[in-house]
Amino acid sequence: MREAKVKRTKTVCTFCGVGCSFDVWTKGREILKVEPNAEAPANGISTCVKGKFGWDFVNSEERLTKPLIREGDSFREAEWEEALDLIAKRFREIRSQYGPQSMGFITSSKCTNEESYLMQKLARQVIGTNNVDNCSRYCQTPATVGLHRTVGYGGDAGSIKDIAKAGLVIIVGSNTAEAHPVLATRVKRAHKLHGQKLIVADLREHEMAARADLFIHPNAGSDLVWLSAVTKYIIDMGWADEEFIQMNVNGFEEYRESLAPYTLGYAEEVTGLSKETLIQIAEMIYEADGTAILWAMGVTQHLGGSDTSTAISNLLLVTGNYARPGAGSYPLRGHNNVQGAGDMGSAPENFPGYQRVDNPEVLAKFEQAWGVKLSSEVGINNHDMIEGIHQGTLKAMYVKGEEMGLVDSNINHVHAAYEKLEFFVVQDIFFSRTAQYADVVLPASPSLEKEGTFTNTERRIQRLYQVFEPHGDSKPDWEIIQLVANRLGANWNYQHPSDIMEEAAMLMPIYAGVTYERLEGYKSLQWPVKPDGTDTPLLYTDGFPFSDRKARFYPVQWTKPLDFEEQYDLHLNNGRLLEHFHEGNLTYKSKGISEKTPAVFLEVSPELAAERGLKDGTLVRLTSPFGNVKVKCIITARVKGKEVYLPMNDTGDGAVNYLTSSAADKDTDTPAYKDTRVRMEIL
Ligand code: SF4
Repeated sequence: MREAKVKRTKTVCTFCGVGCSFDVWTKGREILKVEPNAEAPANGISTCVKGKFGWDFVNSEERLTKPLIREGDSFREAEWEEALDLIAKRFREIRSQYGPQSMGFITSSKCTNEESYLMQKLARQVIGTNNVDNCSRYCQTPATVGLHRTVGYGGDAGSIKDIAKAGLVIIVGSNTAEAHPVLATRVKRAHKLHGQKLIVADLREHEMAARADLFIHPNAGSDLVWLSAVTKYIIDMGWADEEFIQMNVNGFEEYRESLAPYTLGYAEEVTGLSKETLIQIAEMIYEADGTAILWAMGVTQHLGGSDTSTAISNLLLVTGNYARPGAGSYPLRGHNNVQGAGDMGSAPENFPGYQRVDNPEVLAKFEQAWGVKLSSEVGINNHDMIEGIHQGTLKAMYVKGEEMGLVDSNINHVHAAYEKLEFFVVQDIFFSRTAQYADVVLPASPSLEKEGTFTNTERRIQRLYQVFEPHGDSKPDWEIIQLVANRLGANWNYQHPSDIMEEAAMLMPIYAGVTYERLEGYKSLQWPVKPDGTDTPLLYTDGFPFSDRKARFYPVQWTKPLDFEEQYDLHLNNGRLLEHFHEGNLTYKSKGISEKTPAVFLEVSPELAAERGLKDGTLVRLTSPFGNVKVKCIITARVKGKEVYLPMNDTGDGAVNYLTSSAADKDTDTPAYKDTRVRMEIL
């Protein structure tokens, strides 16, 4: 046999929304090294531990290599033809018996733009439903809503490099150093070397908090209150940017009046932050040459997550912190392609490009392009799909590349729903927790085995190239979706992902000028992209995307966190570990990473440890009204008092979502993961 050649291929990391690009050196199926490249637009020569060492999973023996079909309580291997025939037969039967609204489709923020585009097209064109969603519902949809309400685009206001130019960075509810490591490095460097000021608001004193000029620990779920009180104080002191507001924003008077309840005294009572601290924050914003606010799930995963995101944008508008470098709103996207999945219409109310399904002109455009009558009825989101199954209205689901069975909230409730489905297709690279409930499991290929594009947190679209052939009989997700669609009577003929992007760009004004040629190698584009290929690293310099080009203040009020019975006396926070990606299905299968961090642990404060007699390694059971987990403790001053922290990166009995509830953000149905309380027993 001829010896395999050494090969270098450019790819884009799949482990977070920073979107680092780098070269992967391989020989056969062996990964020799990951080499950063100075041309990489988001990261240059930087990567983090996951990007550098997290790829062994591609060659894991646990990879799915054949379609699987359920037989009773077990599965048997099948050929593609049989699996596709079965899917087409059951989808046809269910659609004809219960109608297209009885079916739900989940795209994936880990898959490419082209794959998300095809999945929503399958749901809409072939099946006839807008019941399509993706996991941004679990994280940043509230941020998108908050920004659409105020400034018109749901993406980051500028580029990662713009954040480094800010006079002041405020990080709210984001463990940036672990969840977005390379982006955090930019902030660390600007703070240390260039005099950038840093405020961190969090329950936990993580690395960025320890580095901050000011670390604040508001009471859980009270961010909207301190943000609004600081905004009110800035206005009351005459520090608002009146010229910017007059020229660029509507609705100031009504908004100013809506802030009346948010006095310093009220904020002190609700948040636990002193008046002096609130004034200090306001002064730091007033004195800064540009303020950028970064936020993540600590803000969005609450009953009022969309409103708190809106409050952040209101504050930035009051202080004129939009449309210039070193300022603006930066909701940090978690997965590599959360931004792209949303862009591509993976939502029940939007066609690709955030174009509403109930807008007659938009509907007509897509009907003409796809050659069928489409539904103008807004579909149901992934949260409502679970409720729909319990209520008997949703009968079938097709989940692509999402581990809903671990990452949705209240997973005992989710698993009970899956048991009731009449037909369930799961498409993944491993036999996931979700796949255990499937009728058919389809083997897919990860990013290193296919081509396509991802869109990172700064709206940057980048190409990834195929490193390996698909493992076993697995296939790229776009090929599988096309096979399913054609079995159902579609006549799709995409030969390559570039064909899909060509169609998407024709239909999506914000991607109008996106072509594979313009993304060749390390080239990239930040949307909106004009037809001539001009992209937009910094948003809003030509006004806001509303008919009068003005942004809008959007008054919001605080929603109190969930009430729990007194026996649930500990507040449970959750988030990511640096070494692991999401639930950990990929990174626990990468040896270098799993050896370093083989399991999650519960962070417990020294005060609580002393009170309960806990030591490093003590095994405890946490119980909420929804379930329980067993986990070992570590004692750390990162958490305080009766607040405990459990990383979300567990694929088994320690999965935090056995504890979380089905309560959700009132505007988006994003689960209120952070509103969780538990009791603890030592085992
Ligand atoms: Fe970059 Fe994020 Fe990948 Fe780390 S995990 S290499 S920061 S994209």
